[in-house]
Amino acid sequence: MDLVEYQGKQYFARYGIAVSPGEVADTVAEAEDAAERLGYPVVVKAQVQVGGRGKAGGIKLADSAAEVREHAGNILGMDMKGHKVRRLWIERATDIAKEYYASFTLDRSAKLHLAMVSARGGIDIEQVASEDPDAIARLHVNPLDGVTLEAMRELVARAGLDPQAREGAAEILVKLYDCYIQGDADLVEINPLVLTTDGVVRALDAKVTLDDDAAFRHPEWAEIDNMGESTERERLAKSKGLSYIPLEGSVGIIANGAGLAMSTVDMVSQVGGSAANFLDVGGGADEDGMASALEVINLDPSVRSIFVNIFGGIVRCDEVARGIVKALDKVDITSQIVLRLDGTNVAEARRIIDESASEKIISELTMLSAARRAVELAGAPKAQGGSGL
Ligand code: GDP
Ligand code: MN
Repeated sequence: MDLVEYQGKQYFARYGIAVSPGEVADTVAEAEDAAERLGYPVVVKAQVQVGGRGKAGGIKLADSAAEVREHAGNILGMDMKGHKVRRLWIERATDIAKEYYASFTLDRSAKLHLAMVSARGGIDIEQVASEDPDAIARLHVNPLDGVTLEAMRELVARAGLDPQAREGAAEILVKLYDCYIQGDADLVEINPLVLTTDGVVRALDAKVTLDDDAAFRHPEWAEIDNMGESTERERLAKSKGLSYIPLEGSVGIIANGAGLAMSTVDMVSQVGGSAANFLDVGGGADEDGMASALEVINLDPSVRSIFVNIFGGIVRCDEVARGIVKALDKVDITSQIVLRLDGTNVAEARRIIDESASEKIISELTMLSAARRAVELAGAPKAQGGSGL
């Protein structure tokens, strides 16, 4: 789960990382009230899960109530890279002397945590990495060792942070590592980490990605408002334990196992269609799991046909068949279902499907013929002949 800036700053604050005082505002009036309480000048900041808000016009300094009204009015409702701005963060403005960069994330290839610090902050770190890779100081951290203040002092010195910022930055890095580990984050990033004109070091932006697999340790995460970034069907899928990712196309996909689900998405593209989603029912491809999966896909208005691709290994095909029949009883599934079942108890499964005599279900024997049929039903451009599969 990605947090927006203000949620990230609230997360940082729990670990003692210095941030500026601020308040959320969902309307222009709330923004103005917040600014009055905070005192001018303030910064009006769009709260969306995208980077580069400053360049896109979503971050504005305001010296008066009139300016807050103007900026809040412009930014609320603004479309930022496909995300509509519904909430603002009004923050007391900081007098910046220097902007730096600091982060912890997991380096999967090294199987270690990675700290990155740069004296070139405030701009895209990817840009720094490509233009001037030496400007980023890196340090791998073994989770069994953790970090020490001494190691962080060395790191910020190596990154070339100004001497008067080093102690404050090293202290923040120690706390940031705590936040990353204790807070179960996959990424904590401060860009910019600033040195103020008064010589204080503080986080002026926050990017935090929480590790969803650690949610069981954090009942408080349930309270985090994900800002309407997930749809009803994503929430339903999550509550049913399904791994669901919406995509742009029109063929709804249900498969068991991430590998088979990905191959199914690929095959739909290969025959000229496009998948509306990735959905792995996993080991839950039993009656209830199938019914829930169909329910989730059915909520997607762009779905025009559903391709169910199940290989029965541990999962039994007859259970899957019962699940589909049950789902058709329970929910009014709007699209036709193209079904490819193979593996354990497939004969019994075919009997169940035949007995149901549902016009909604079309059985196909192979994955390729099923993909073609589903794409045809979705009305996508016809497949090119002779794909060789
Ligand atoms: P991003 O563009 O989405 O990364 O948003 P940031 O929160 O990082 O803000 C972008 C830039 O706005 C920063 O790099 C700063 O230069 C500027 N900025 C943000 N907050 C303040 C502030 O309190 N005072 C000043 N002077 N500039 C700010
Ligand atoms: Mn930033």
